[in-house]
Amino acid sequence: MSLGEFELISNYFLKTCNNPDLIVANGDDAAVIRSQAHLAVAADTLVSGVHFPENADAALIARRALRVNLSDMAAMAARPKWFTLSLTMPTANPVWLEQFSRGLFADAERFGCHLIGGDTTKGPLNIAIQVLGEIPADQTGLRRSGAIAGDLMVVTGTLGGAGAALESDLCADWDNESEDSLLRRYWLPEPRLEFASHCQHLIHAALDISDGLLADAGHICSQSGVDAQINLDCLPLSTEVMDCWGVRAGLRAITSGDDYELCMAVPQPCWAEMQKVARKLDVPVTILGEFTPVSGSLPSVTMLDNRGKPIEISSSGYHHF
Ligand code: ADP
Ligand code: MG
Repeated sequence: MSLGEFELISNYFLKTCNNPDLIVANGDDAAVIRSQAHLAVAADTLVSGVHFPENADAALIARRALRVNLSDMAAMAARPKWFTLSLTMPTANPVWLEQFSRGLFADAERFGCHLIGGDTTKGPLNIAIQVLGEIPADQTGLRRSGAIAGDLMVVTGTLGGAGAALESDLCADWDNESEDSLLRRYWLPEPRLEFASHCQHLIHAALDISDGLLADAGHICSQSGVDAQINLDCLPLSTEVMDCWGVRAGLRAITSGDDYELCMAVPQPCWAEMQKVARKLDVPVTILGEFTPVSGSLPSVTMLDNRGKPIEISSSGYHHF
């Protein structure tokens, strides 16, 4: 059973939206929105077989696709407001589409973000979402470039869960009623939107960790012109991640991606206040180390062992200096 393009769009993706800032809604040649705020714009594409297993639950694919985009808004301290969906799929399967759109709209509602347009084409399954968020005109949002030497490196949540889930071979079979928290970490990352908007005045620089802490902390360093030292023993690892990876959990967690937690540069005097806000919002926060003046020719990230000695990370494993 297959649907025509227009039937498909109107059945699954055109929903009434009564937001007063939506001047022309989904269904015209373009949506028109009103904004007094600064608009933060981000896009992320999920390719089947690359970013998620081919036969996974359609609702989870939709929710993950939206959440990774919302995480970029959190990393900018923007409030997500609108999104578009460019959907490419091999066939128009009503059962799949029903699940996909149900998952998508459930999370869209939960995070207060409205679908205002998109595109639908035939081809290998590919989900491209673009999200627009608001930053009040008197604020600048959060960037990667504001870290200074002496700032603490702080992360939200725990690390490595999504990467461990991907290795479990069960990713494609998870139905989100089950309690497996590693698979939940992979499929339903929690964009730290509330936390970022409440804490932005306590943060010098931030990004969301999509490619692994080591690489992403490196982005803050290179864009801020600082080094960073991370204590391997300080990494927030869940018991599930420790069970999965054993003694290598820390080193695996720093190079595994998809956790979508925030990595931040926090001035030391702001840490106590951040902890207070985090407790109120029930968001775990952990100090991993600190940003330091650049010591070599380029900004770099150093991992330290429990005696404070640098650990060399290489593809063939790790070696103490
Ligand atoms: P056009 O040919 O003018 O680009 P389309 O026929 O592609 O328009 O789409 C018709 C309307 O449906 C547009 O308003 C578009 O934004 C919306 N639309 C198309 N695909 C999607 C989708 N996957 N999700 C949400 N809206 C969609
Ligand atoms: Mg048109």
